[in-house]
Amino acid sequence: MRHIIIGTGVAALAAVESIRSVERGAEVILLGDDPYGFYSRPGLAYFLSGELTDKALFPKTREDYRRLGFTYRKARVTKILRDDTSVQLEDGSLLTYDRLLLATGAFATPLAVPGSTLQGVVKLDHLNDARNILKLAKRGRTAVVVGGGITALELAEGLLARGMSVHYLLRGNRYWSNVLDEQESRIIEARLQEEGITLHFHSELQEIIGRSGRVNSVRLKNGKTLKCDLLAYAIGIQPRADLAREAGLNVERGILVDEFMQTNDPNICAAGDVAQVYDRISGRSVLDSLWNAAREQGYAAGLNMAGRGTPYVKSMPFNVTRLAGLTTTIIGAVGHGRDDDLVGIARGDSETWRELPNAIVAQSGFDVNRVRILVGEKKLIGAVVMGDQTLSVPLQTIIAKQIDILAMRDKLLAQNAKISDVIVDFWSNLNPVN
Ligand SMILES: Cc1cc2nc3c(=O)[nH]c(=O)nc-3n(C[C@H](O)[C@H](O)[C@H](O)COP(=O)(O)OP(=O)(O)OC[C@H]3O[C@@H](n4cnc5c(N)ncnc54)[C@H](O)[C@@H]3O)c2cc1C
Repeated sequence: MRHIIIGTGVAALAAVESIRSVERGAEVILLGDDPYGFYSRPGLAYFLSGELTDKALFPKTREDYRRLGFTYRKARVTKILRDDTSVQLEDGSLLTYDRLLLATGAFATPLAVPGSTLQGVVKLDHLNDARNILKLAKRGRTAVVVGGGITALELAEGLLARGMSVHYLLRGNRYWSNVLDEQESRIIEARLQEEGITLHFHSELQEIIGRSGRVNSVRLKNGKTLKCDLLAYAIGIQPRADLAREAGLNVERGILVDEFMQTNDPNICAAGDVAQVYDRISGRSVLDSLWNAAREQGYAAGLNMAGRGTPYVKSMPFNVTRLAGLTTTIIGAVGHGRDDDLVGIARGDSETWRELPNAIVAQSGFDVNRVRILVGEKKLIGAVVMGDQTLSVPLQTIIAKQIDILAMRDKLLAQNAKISDVIVDFWSNLNPVN
């Protein structure tokens, strides 16, 4: 049996691990066009801010790879020939497969304004992007950042940490409006301003103006001009699904897969940012562009390729991140719908966050320690925990396990309820120390 996996990201590596957990003898070939192989993409933001060295982005050792026993070929796949069950590489050579996994990830949605090909227009998608930004940041003094969501914020903070003066443009009236509520957005915005980032709301890029091929300033739709040496953008991501589309596989926004991560070709699976997975709860196919989801999907795909048909159960959205230095955990359904600052899909922008069920919001906290929970009829539906993280594990468990909350529901919804105390109380009754 020969398994071919296209990609060297976390979904691909997880698939190798699961294939190996059940099939010692099968041949596994990993084909990837990334010069660095497998590394932590979430770590790029910390590399940019100087908190991590590039070495720390590589979590696996040579010994880990040796133990997994697969063949790695640095190659770009240019075509899938389904009738011949083979893939074509850049140099024209063909490799046959018994089972194929597409784990080709996603790419940053390109900026479509005049001047976007000028030197100094950057994104943060790849280690080379981060290195390029660091080089340009040394030369430049002022940066403009465009886009909602986490990556744009990480760019703004990374550039600030590298000594640049940063202007952050938002088309809408507040930060990350499809996930955070107004008060949460305002907390983050206030902290960004305190750090020294200048925020511009209702500001949309019209044009990037260059001098000698380099960024020199930006013109906004409201007529304003800002001088700058660097323009960084993060306006969403798009699944890298061209190979699948050209091979006639079913593709919507991502490659459509069933519960077994299988495409409409029984020999081909897809997993990670490129896949649009079936969600049992909503009965719809959704994109879930998060590291942990990619890992779990890759693992399930590998098991299925090795003949251990195990349905993938999409886990509840759970994202721990840092926003303006504030640890923020986002659990389950918390969002509100569209965000004008994001084009296409954005990291962490799980579809389920967009479907806010009938729920009552209860919130508590002050300043930077804040908890928001969405209370349904019998269970908690979602939560946002900012700052102090004591409640994030209990809330994750209560939400993921759909624990009946009847015993605390009224207390939670009482006027001026101390939510934290109510949850801690409920949690300790569920999990008595002895
Ligand atoms: C800056 C940044 C910060 C992030 N932060 C977070 C975070 O805090 N939390 C979180 O949950 N997620 C975060 N993410 C998202 C997370 O990194 C992704 O969800 C995850 O890496 C997806 O893994 P993947 O294996 O599907 O794809 P990828 O890691 O994108 O890997 C795909 C691989 O396929 C290769 N490939 C593509 N096409 C071909 C081809 N034709 N031939 C050969 N090889 C090919 C690519 O070179 C690449 O190596 C972040 C992403 C970025 C960019």
